[in-house]
Amino acid sequence: MSENENLTIYKIVMIGSVSVGKTSIRLRYCGLGFSNQYLTTLGADFSIKKIESSGNSNVLQIWDLAGQTSYNNLRSNYYKGIQGAIVVFDLSNENTLQSIDKWLDEMLKYSELENIPTTIIVGNKADLVSLSYKDELQLNIDAKIIELNEKYNLKLIYVETSALTGQNIDFVFTQLFNRITEELTNNSAE
Ligand code: GDP
Ligand code: MG
Repeated sequence: MSENENLTIYKIVMIGSVSVGKTSIRLRYCGLGFSNQYLTTLGADFSIKKIESSGNSNVLQIWDLAGQTSYNNLRSNYYKGIQGAIVVFDLSNENTLQSIDKWLDEMLKYSELENIPTTIIVGNKADLVSLSYKDELQLNIDAKIIELNEKYNLKLIYVETSALTGQNIDFVFTQLFNRITEELTNNSAE
């Protein structure tokens, strides 16, 4: 039996403003720990990670796209064929929350899909802030998610992570994977 017989490849992108922690989250998920050193992503980088589910082997191909505007043109090439996305913002920098629209617009434009694919919004660097439902930031996040759901007709999932402590890092990727496979099953049943 060929090892590739039951292998399905899923392509996802990680996007969001510069320095929000996309690369740190990806490397942490791939078991490469955490570094304080700022290693700028040059254009795009990727990792692959195997996920087993009900006896099938699946591969997540994770494209980590550099956020700088100087890479706008280059980034546009990486969205074709994606099944999902992780849009990251930095909980300690509210501007990065407010610019999520820009990332969803870019993804919609260049993926050439009719709708935005399965997407998780990640508030990273949770170790730097502690939120309560009464906090102004928490209220702003809630309002932003509602606004985005209405604007793009989505049901976005929102998760807080820390690449430093590892909080929710595995959870984000397994949630995204489960959602993607669920949606593919639903679509093929229609
Ligand atoms: P990217 O530009 O989105 O890929 O961001 P990087 O992964 O390169 O991270 C930018 C900076 O933020 C680096 O100095 C990281 O060490 C730091 N960083 C990333 N994630 C976290 C986190 O969860 N907590 C803290 N405290 N710092 C983080
Ligand atoms: Mg990076």
